[in-house]
Amino acid sequence: MSEAKTLLKAIQASCHQPWTVMEVCGGQTHALLRHGIDRLLPAQISLIHGPGCPVCVTATEQLDRAIAMAAEPNVILCSYGDMLRVPGSDGRDLLGVRARGGAVRVVYAPLDVLSIARSHPDHRVVFLAVGFETTAPATALLAIQAIAQGITNLELLVCHVRVPPVLDQMLGDPSCRVQAVLAAGHVCTVMGEVEYHDLVARHRRPIVITGFSAEELLRGILACIRQLEAGEQRLENAYRPAVKPAGNGAGQALLEQVFEPVDSPWRGLGVIPAGGYRLRPPFDRLAVPEEHQKTPTATTTSSPIAAFTAVATSSCPAGLVLQGLLRPHQCPHFGRACTPDTPLGAPMVSSEGACAAYYRYQG
Ligand code: SF4
Repeated sequence: MSEAKTLLKAIQASCHQPWTVMEVCGGQTHALLRHGIDRLLPAQISLIHGPGCPVCVTATEQLDRAIAMAAEPNVILCSYGDMLRVPGSDGRDLLGVRARGGAVRVVYAPLDVLSIARSHPDHRVVFLAVGFETTAPATALLAIQAIAQGITNLELLVCHVRVPPVLDQMLGDPSCRVQAVLAAGHVCTVMGEVEYHDLVARHRRPIVITGFSAEELLRGILACIRQLEAGEQRLENAYRPAVKPAGNGAGQALLEQVFEPVDSPWRGLGVIPAGGYRLRPPFDRLAVPEEHQKTPTATTTSSPIAAFTAVATSSCPAGLVLQGLLRPHQCPHFGRACTPDTPLGAPMVSSEGACAAYYRYQG
């Protein structure tokens, strides 16, 4: 019998009552749907999909700034490819700006931006830096290299976000249905376990650090169910040896050197206290100018729905999807007005978006 079948049987044997488990990462969502795990699990287990898609949670106002800058003459806007089709508040996207002659370049790694800046000394070269703690160290390295090499025409629009603060807010909401969490293995590979021990202590829910293969996901779900059935709340690491308790010291040192936590807007979720990064001196000289003046005010919302209502900018209810309050196929636009070819929101664009996963694997 394959390991996956053995794990499924163990889950079935362990589960005696209804439980709701949230996987944090969009990569995990896609893997769960691709392998059909959501349909193979006992009916008592409800999986809901968390906010772990970096493209989906990049704030609309940050994307609007990127779109506006990309349309300026003498600006080269560099971005990961997934960001090009994400609509801003007025429905425009970077791909459309490029089609009208804007200089929008797709990069595969932040250090690619250095050679673009060197090759175009008469342009402002702006990097739209998105992603979680996994990709932020590479942006930090770019900042260090730019300063060390004396590059003066490079600017960073920093939209990096931090996972523990948003989990803290979601799990602390009285309406939150999540009873256990599959934490994203790749984020923990960098950041280690410490912040997640704190979350378990504060919110009294099991958190299991989990990988991305079918077997790894099933192992994480089994660990959650066993804890829930036993009435336990612990942090468990089901993604060894990739995740060390202390994480990756070199990656953390890069983050510490270049960034500091800041209250940060998440698309559809409002401003999350300490939910993002900004450049700290002397690297803040690389920030796009407005970033110095713009400090979002932290807001405490009474419920996720209130948070969503406060920040909704279009008919796309992505904020509800990102909190597991609405399943993608329950959205009235899913598969009708909103498809991968005609996306109304980031979760249908991104390769890690929950709506794209449902469209691709469950039609
Ligand atoms: S289906 Fe489209 S409109 Fe609905 S939540 Fe997903 S991205 Fe937004």
